[in-house]
Amino acid sequence: MATALITHDAALRHETPPGHPERIARIEHLLHALAGFDLVRVAAQIAGDEDIERCHPASYIGSLEGHAPARGFHQVDGDTFLSPGSLEAARRGVGGVIEAVDMVVGGKVANAFVAMRPPGHHAERQKSMGFCFFGNAAIGAKYALDVLGLERVAVVDFDVHHGNGTQDLLWHEKRALFVSSHQSPLWPGSGEPHETGAHDNVLNVPLPPGSDGARMRAVYEDRVFPRLKAFAPELIIVSAGFDAHRADPLANLNWENDDFAWVTEQLCAIAAEVSSGRVVSTLEGGYDLQALSEAGAAHVAALMEAGR
Ligand SMILES: [Zn+2]
Repeated sequence: MATALITHDAALRHETPPGHPERIARIEHLLHALAGFDLVRVAAQIAGDEDIERCHPASYIGSLEGHAPARGFHQVDGDTFLSPGSLEAARRGVGGVIEAVDMVVGGKVANAFVAMRPPGHHAERQKSMGFCFFGNAAIGAKYALDVLGLERVAVVDFDVHHGNGTQDLLWHEKRALFVSSHQSPLWPGSGEPHETGAHDNVLNVPLPPGSDGARMRAVYEDRVFPRLKAFAPELIIVSAGFDAHRADPLANLNWENDDFAWVTEQLCAIAAEVSSGRVVSTLEGGYDLQALSEAGAAHVAALMEAGR
């Protein structure tokens, strides 16, 4: 079966101020790197309020809509900005993940990658932060549980920053396991091992600055993969950030392109064992354009190989 690539031009209309690392060129470079890949290409749909409200209150959505500027920027927090095109892009980020979940669970494709921006994993229930407005991965998990009737969904976040938003949104959800590996110490400062969720449903795996791929592989083999297999999710959603790459300017881990391919292969192998092969991946961070393109392409190539 095939791998789906879900994206939309709206991702190119979410603007950030000059010099901001989370910029339009990220999607342009990533899609260019995937141009020759044999993928099922799908346009990301717009998520309605009912989908976003699986994780965020209506008042929060309304407040964002109310602050969306007709031109220029509205600053939501220190590094998070609304531009005129931002909320369509954010809604299509959510919609893309929902569509991916539908396609993968429905058996239309083996797995799927959602290439949208802004990212989502820092958005908390009522708080935009870290370039994020809506928790795409967590909303996708809730959709799979509440609408499609799955009993267990795992979200695995290998972005270099802790997925504080996803953790917040899934904290009380015992049908979901959230696993995050991340550099520590690093912004946003959360993600300590003692943060384990209301139902022991959160696993945080901090990695010290300078950790390379060998360290990451050992930690995943030791702690992440056994936990994932024991939970036996019916779907694995991957928060795929590529900022743990050696070249990334925002952090200090030293993963190489091969390490992103490896972790993807391993997650797909576990999915084949316990999740009927179902994997949905959604783009989070990754701020060196070349590293993002290369590691992102390695990630998608591994998805395609697993889906064959
Ligand atoms: Zn990140």
